[in-house]
Amino acid sequence: MTALLEARDLVRVYEISRGLWKKPTLVRAVDRVSLSLSAGETLGVVGESGSGKSTLGRMLLGIDPATEGQVVFDGQPMPAMGTTEWRRLRAQMQLVFQDPLAALDRRLSIAEQIGEPLVIHGLATKSEVKERVAELMSAVGLRSDQAGRYPHELSGGQRQRVIIARALATEPRLLVCDEPVSALDVSIQAQVVNLLRDLQEKHGIAMVFISHDLKVVRNITDRVAVMYLGRIVEEASSDVIFTHPQHPYTRALVSSVPVPGRKLEARIILQGEPPNPARRPAGCAFHPRCPVVLPSCRTSAPKLGAVGTGHIAACHLIAQSDAPLVA
Ligand code: SF4
Repeated sequence: MTALLEARDLVRVYEISRGLWKKPTLVRAVDRVSLSLSAGETLGVVGESGSGKSTLGRMLLGIDPATEGQVVFDGQPMPAMGTTEWRRLRAQMQLVFQDPLAALDRRLSIAEQIGEPLVIHGLATKSEVKERVAELMSAVGLRSDQAGRYPHELSGGQRQRVIIARALATEPRLLVCDEPVSALDVSIQAQVVNLLRDLQEKHGIAMVFISHDLKVVRNITDRVAVMYLGRIVEEASSDVIFTHPQHPYTRALVSSVPVPGRKLEARIILQGEPPNPARRPAGCAFHPRCPVVLPSCRTSAPKLGAVGTGHIAACHLIAQSDAPLVA
C-alpha cells in the first residue's frame, strides 16, 4: 500500500545558548527517525517526556523544519513552512493540541473558531461556513446552542471537542494528535478517544497519536513506535507491542499498564530519569537505566533491525538471541 505520510531519516538539532562567550550546546531532539503511515491508519508514538515525540509530530506537519531528512506527504516532499504550497498541504494535515484552552482564542466564539479554517483556506462561502460549523459541532457532540459561547464557558472535554471540530473543518487526510487527552479528567478521556476513533473510521483519516499514556494508545492505535532520547527503539503492531514487547525499554513501559490479573510486582521499575538530550550517553542511550545491560551496550549503539514481520527494534540483546525475549 502506498504511504500517505513518510518520514525519511529525520533529524532535528536545536542550539541551546550557554551565554555570550560560550559555544551553544547542540541537542539532537530527533535523531534519524524514519516511519510511514497509510491512509486510515493510526500510529501511536510513545515515550517519556524528552523523548522527542512532540518535536517529531511538529516536523511531520512541517511546523518544525528538519535539520536533515525529509517528510513526504502524498508523494510530495513537504514544502517550506509559510509558502503557499505548504498552506495548501496544511489544510489536509491538522494538529490537535494537548491544552485546548491555550489553543483557542478566548475572544472568539466557538462557531467562529470552528469556521475559521474554512475562511482562511477559502473553502466555503459565508452561508456555507454556518452550515458546515453546525455539521461539525453535531459530529463532535456539541449542542447547537453552544455555538455562541466562548472557550471559558465550556468544560475541558467540550473545549477539546471544539479543537477536534476545528481540525476536521478542512476535511484533513492526516491528524497529528499531541497528548490530546492528557489534560482531561479520566472519565472524559475515554469519550474523546472514542470520538476520535469514530471520526477517523468514518472519514478514513490517518492519525499520529502522540502520548505518554499507554492505556490510551492501546485503545486507539494500529501500530506503535517507541521513542527514547530522539530515536525509535521499537516499532510493531499495537498487539505485538503490548503482548510481545522486545526492547527492554518497551517492556518496562508496557509492564506499567494495568492488566486485570497481572500482579503489581510484575512491573519493571526503571531506575533514574531519562538522560539530558544534550548529554546523550555513549553506546546505547538507554544503557544507564537498562536492567539487562551488556558490556558492549556502553560503547556501541544498536541499530534498528527486524525482529519479526513488521516488527523492528534496536537492542544488542535482541540481535544476539534467536528466540524472542518474551514468549
Ligand atoms: Fe539494554 Fe543493551 Fe539493549 Fe540498550 S542495547 S536496551 S543497554 S540490552
